[in-house]
Amino acid sequence: MIPTPFYLIDEARLLQNMQKIARLRELSGAKALLALKCFATWGVFPSMRPYMDGSTSSSLFELRLGREKFGGETHAYSVAWSDSEIDEAIGYADKIIFNSISQLERFADKAAHIERGLRLNPRFSTSGFDLADPARPFSRLGEWDMTKLMTALPRISGVMIHYNCENRDFDLFDQQLTRIESEFGEFLSQLKWVSLGGGIHFTGEGYPLEALAARLRAFAEKFGIQVYLEPGEASITGAASLEVSVLDIVDNGKQVAIVDSSIEAHMLDLLIYRETAKLPQTGDHAYQIAGKTCLAGDIFGDAKFPAPLAVGDRISIADAAGYTMVKKNWFNGVNMPAIAVRRADGNGTVELIREFTYEDYQSSLS
Ligand SMILES: *Cc1c(COP(=O)(O)O)cnc(C)c1O
Repeated sequence: MIPTPFYLIDEARLLQNMQKIARLRELSGAKALLALKCFATWGVFPSMRPYMDGSTSSSLFELRLGREKFGGETHAYSVAWSDSEIDEAIGYADKIIFNSISQLERFADKAAHIERGLRLNPRFSTSGFDLADPARPFSRLGEWDMTKLMTALPRISGVMIHYNCENRDFDLFDQQLTRIESEFGEFLSQLKWVSLGGGIHFTGEGYPLEALAARLRAFAEKFGIQVYLEPGEASITGAASLEVSVLDIVDNGKQVAIVDSSIEAHMLDLLIYRETAKLPQTGDHAYQIAGKTCLAGDIFGDAKFPAPLAVGDRISIADAAGYTMVKKNWFNGVNMPAIAVRRADGNGTVELIREFTYEDYQSSLS
């Protein structure tokens, strides 16, 4: 048995998402690029590659990883490229997307041999959390002034518009795309490609995939453009868990099970967005599941089990792929979870693909 803690990627679940992506591409004509900022566990890229067109990035390192480990079309985006990065970046990228007109002006000539684009900020979004809202006041994420955008036209062939955030509501997507069509249509019709970014939860249960495909196809045809999507969370949703073991149980008015992991170190995104982890909820035995760091609020959440917990019991925490493995850290020097894959080979073979050691911890600092 693989020692805990470890992230367990379920290849069969991953492939279910991939098949939905492939179907959406086929029906809509849109291309799909994996957003590496959400999920960059390159050991499973070979399972994803046949279903997607490539990757997109938010930094030089992600860009390089996409080029070297994912392949296909490699889009490069960064909120700000530095002078020292740009030459290397254009060596990996098929398309480079600048965040501002000033970055475009600074680097357009260097990138003249590849396709260039700009980030367009439509000034609305579906995010309810200002930390993750690209349309927040004074947002630095993209350009919106039509006059400025028009002056950039000779230097760009497309735009990236990322404004959705876990949007499960097709009608809202439809309405907002109509708003983009009416506010920016004249500009879009002069481009070759438009990326609508990520955040559309089309692999979720019950999402009207066919309606989305038809809407994307109509959008592409109206302006004569190639549409791209950049699914992050939608690509890997439900495809991994974090496997932990109970180390101790204390009763301080509540039964608290301390596990060999940490929400701060291993599922940080939940803490930032003040969400609780997806824990088992069946049975009459209630416990608070807490991490082993000295942070008082290192709490995964409340769980229920059919029988009392004992030291050594294993607990599976669901939905541990997106924004989870990419954010793991060495806080408190807690063992970093290994990475394992349950293969979709029919036997359910679990393969350990990466382990972390004291040397990794030591070499993360100096
Ligand atoms: C975060 C991000 C994505 C992926 O978003 P998901 O919500 O994970 O699908 C795609 N494109 C851009 C530009 C992003 O910033």
